[in-house]
Amino acid sequence: MKKYADLHVHTTFSDGLLSPAEVVDLAVRKGLSAIAIADHDSVGGIDEAIEAGLKAGIEVIPAVELSVSFEAFQDVHLLGYHIDHHDGLFLKRLDDFQKRRDNRGSAILEKINAKLVQEDRLPVSGEEVAALAQGSLGRPHIARALQARGYVTGMEDAFVRYLEPCDVPKEYFAADEALAEIERLGGVSVLAHPVSITSQLGKLEGVLKELKYLGLDGVEVFSNMCSTDDIILLSACAARLGLTVTGGSDFHGPGEYADLGFIRKENRLSYTLVENVAAALRKKRAAQGI
Ligand code: AMP
Ligand code: FE
Ligand code: FE
Ligand code: ZN
Repeated sequence: MKKYADLHVHTTFSDGLLSPAEVVDLAVRKGLSAIAIADHDSVGGIDEAIEAGLKAGIEVIPAVELSVSFEAFQDVHLLGYHIDHHDGLFLKRLDDFQKRRDNRGSAILEKINAKLVQEDRLPVSGEEVAALAQGSLGRPHIARALQARGYVTGMEDAFVRYLEPCDVPKEYFAADEALAEIERLGGVSVLAHPVSITSQLGKLEGVLKELKYLGLDGVEVFSNMCSTDDIILLSACAARLGLTVTGGSDFHGPGEYADLGFIRKENRLSYTLVENVAAALRKKRAAQGI
């Protein structure tokens, strides 16, 4: 029987809507054999998911999605799989990063509140936003707080009218440092939704080549952001560069744009993608003599 998986899943520990245990429960109901919990700049949900996975008989892979900058590209998303998510130094780094995220969130909210007051609307409190964000605070949490107040019709409306005009730059890990960190944690590094960097695949291949030189192991070929053509061309590109092919939905919650275990509505993500990551891990460990 064919097995299915999803290597890119968010929980309430970043901007997802379901708790880790709820995500595992949904994955079971969707007939998945494995999921990777890949919250933005947080590993707080992994242990709860692993525990729920053990009970439910589903494989849970520890992961993280780091926001990095690389050359002129900002907000490049880098996934780390099979990382040691209990590493003290890493936890400290993520904690520092989250504090900076909180400060940025407060600065964005201040700008939004000034706009709301101009519009004769009551401001949104920091507590309202914090109540929606258990882990890594992000702009989606502010968007949901605006929606709860009835100021916007949904995510997209919130971004266009408030979050984009009132944005404050985010701080990023440098790509080379983030890749070295994933390596230090014994993990496999993968570039998430690659077409978000550039939709020009020729240019993207150049970026992938440079990132590979810095230590990148794989690329998320099967992504909701890729067209069918992109998937075919990116697979060939990954083969040329010797990068591992992975895939994930970037699930944030029911009713959001991505469905757990699926890309582009009806295409299921094969378990062979999980095996690809495991093979990359074995190869790396063999090369390191572990
Ligand atoms: P942050 O990391 O706080 O800057 O938030 C970035 C997240 O916001 C992304 O990962 C997306 O999930 C979400 N996002 C960004 N732009 C939009 C948009 N135009 N509409 C809906 N969600 C968005
Ligand atoms: Fe997100
Ligand atoms: Fe992402
Ligand atoms: Zn994601």
